[in-house]
Amino acid sequence: MKVLITGAGQDSSLSTYLHLVRGDQVYVLTRRRADGLTDQMRKVTEILNESPVFVYTDLTEYENVFDIVRELKPDMIYHYGAMSFVPYSYNNPIYTAQVNELSAYAILEAVRKHSPSAKVFLPASSEVFGKPVEYPQRLSTPLAPVSPYAISKVGLLYIADYYRKVWKLHVYDFITFNHESELRGEEFVTMKIVKNLVKKGHVVLGNIEARKDWGYGAEYVKIFNRVMEGEEPKRYILCTGVIATVKDFLTYVISKVGGTYEIDESLYRPVDAENMTCDVTEVPIKPQYMWWDVADIMIKYVKEGALTFTEVLGRI
Ligand code: GDP
Repeated sequence: MKVLITGAGQDSSLSTYLHLVRGDQVYVLTRRRADGLTDQMRKVTEILNESPVFVYTDLTEYENVFDIVRELKPDMIYHYGAMSFVPYSYNNPIYTAQVNELSAYAILEAVRKHSPSAKVFLPASSEVFGKPVEYPQRLSTPLAPVSPYAISKVGLLYIADYYRKVWKLHVYDFITFNHESELRGEEFVTMKIVKNLVKKGHVVLGNIEARKDWGYGAEYVKIFNRVMEGEEPKRYILCTGVIATVKDFLTYVISKVGGTYEIDESLYRPVDAENMTCDVTEVPIKPQYMWWDVADIMIKYVKEGALTFTEVLGRI
């Protein structure tokens, strides 16, 4: 099977691992970086001693993106590539829309014209619910985005609907709640907490009353894949069903590794989405890893370099 994955962050790297282990041909479309691969992709290629084929382009070079899909004709596409850091989107709304939303058109137009049997995964986000009007959130909960990032993800949901309904393409869009792993970037609060406490014994944070639903990234990409292989193309929602505050996560990590914290109000967001949790009766496959398991996995990795995603996604 030929698989095209955009982006080189956490989910892209985990899906790359999953498909390389299975012996698929994996192409990764990403920007060329002066410092080489992202840490996450480097980790995956080191563990497997094998590399996907890297295709270098920026997602906003839409013609390149279109051409790559037209030439490769992949069986499966995961369009993870995105500007995924919510605070950055406040000051970069146009860029956020260009990268996150318009690139999806380039991919789906190429699929529509040249590879219509391909299965395409589009990741939305629980941020689409913004300040949610109901708890827990469901597939029927009204969309109420409160950041340019969230607006771009709402756009993806409509783009997915459009290509499914009008062109009968096999598009799977997932409203996914937060998911973390050993490969999480340090700008996200979970890895920021774990790394700073383990390495420096101290962490400076913003709003620790924010309530989130954190699952395990490796388990989530496995679920994305299972659903794409066995279920019909439509909109899905995915969460663990368990809510925790950033403070709960922080307190748990402190109880395991020690350390102190302080609050810096300049790290507060203009509006914090209150992504509580979703109705687990609506998820396609129920996750087994809860937020405290994810914290344990991240601590084990930062302290000892121990990997868990290789167990979850399989070994060669
Ligand atoms: P997001 O939910 O995808 O934006 O993931 P993040 O990990 O960036 O943020 C999770 C939550 O943690 C948000 O509600 C933030 O307001 C809150 N938070 C509190 N302190 C911090 C911090 O220092 N950094 C980040 N990134 N988030 C923080």
